[in-house]
Amino acid sequence: MRDCLFCKIVKKEIKADIVYEDDEIIGFNDINPQAPVHILVVPKKHIEDLTKIEKDDVRVMGRIMEVIKDIAKEKHLESGFRVVVNTKESAGQSVFHLHFHILSQRRFHWPPG
Ligand code: 5GP
Ligand code: ZN
Repeated sequence: MRDCLFCKIVKKEIKADIVYEDDEIIGFNDINPQAPVHILVVPKKHIEDLTKIEKDDVRVMGRIMEVIKDIAKEKHLESGFRVVVNTKESAGQSVFHLHFHILSQRRFHWPPG
């Protein structure tokens, strides 16, 4: 996707503060953090949002959960963290390339706003 911001980060056309990378997944610090720790975990494949996942994507979705676990361990988030996937504009999605927010190191409220 030529005009997709996160595809450009994947291709290193836009700089990001990368905290994790493998063949299929990239993790980087959010440019506008909403908590002391705010990392985005992103499949390298362009998937617009959760509603566009196909059968072939299921394995990498599971891998993303494992990467989130590993990042949480490496960043010492054992006291708690929140994982958020905003899906569609009405739910707060602003970048239309699937991403998992990891937020930590402050208190979170429930229900979320
Ligand atoms: P969404 O609103 O789609 O759930 O989340 C998109 C996130 O991407 C936001 O938290 C926003 O701060 C972050 N973001 C937007 N542009 C950039 C960028 O150029 N670099 C980085 N690292 N994060 C970005
Ligand atoms: Zn993309």
